[in-house]
Amino acid sequence: MPYGFSFDLSEISKSFFRELARVSQERKLHKKLGVRARYLAEKFRLQEITGLDVPNALQLVEDLIDVHMRNLSERENFVKTKKRALFLPHCARKYMDSRCQAQFDAEIPSYTCARCSPDCLVNQANTLGENKGYDVYILPGGSCIPEILRKSNYDGVVGVSCSQELKLGGEYLKHVGLAGQAVPLLKNGCAKTTFSIGNLEKTL
Ligand code: SF4
Ligand code: SF4
Repeated sequence: MPYGFSFDLSEISKSFFRELARVSQERKLHKKLGVRARYLAEKFRLQEITGLDVPNALQLVEDLIDVHMRNLSERENFVKTKKRALFLPHCARKYMDSRCQAQFDAEIPSYTCARCSPDCLVNQANTLGENKGYDVYILPGGSCIPEILRKSNYDGVVGVSCSQELKLGGEYLKHVGLAGQAVPLLKNGCAKTTFSIGNLEKTL
């Protein structure tokens, strides 16, 4: 489910993400989550840089902290996993129209990248995942995940998507007892979205 607002964090200072990780490591965070989110949003001038209003900026930061916290708590289990899947969002493809040569197979269900553009984020992430031994899926939505997981015996999953989808995905993985790691989008909007390849590489 997409956010009801668009965001673009690609111009935010890198130290925002370092501080986000630090804040996520602190104990008893839940009680202070709103306070911490406000502190981060103000310190890094989130509203000014992204144009988000206060409630949306706070929701975004809270969701990002939540994703980081899940990553931290799942990391130990995740590194022990052997058979892993990487789920990439179709919205980060370079093209969303017929210029994208990827074929969608409803039986899987997933796109298969035809590698038409070396500068396509999904292409780069696909190669990265395959080189690290992952089965890579390019998904039109999170609803494909249960079907894929039913068909294969994965014990570890890495997902790239907007933080709202990651929260839903994290709850599903918890429900089915799989270890997961998440890489949030830096820019949403359901087309021409972006994420950090460096962050994905570290996560894999
Ligand atoms: S590189 Fe792959 S995902 Fe990207 S536009 Fe081409 S076929 Fe589509
Ligand atoms: S931004 Fe991408 S991952 Fe998020 S809901 Fe839209 S299509 Fe899905």
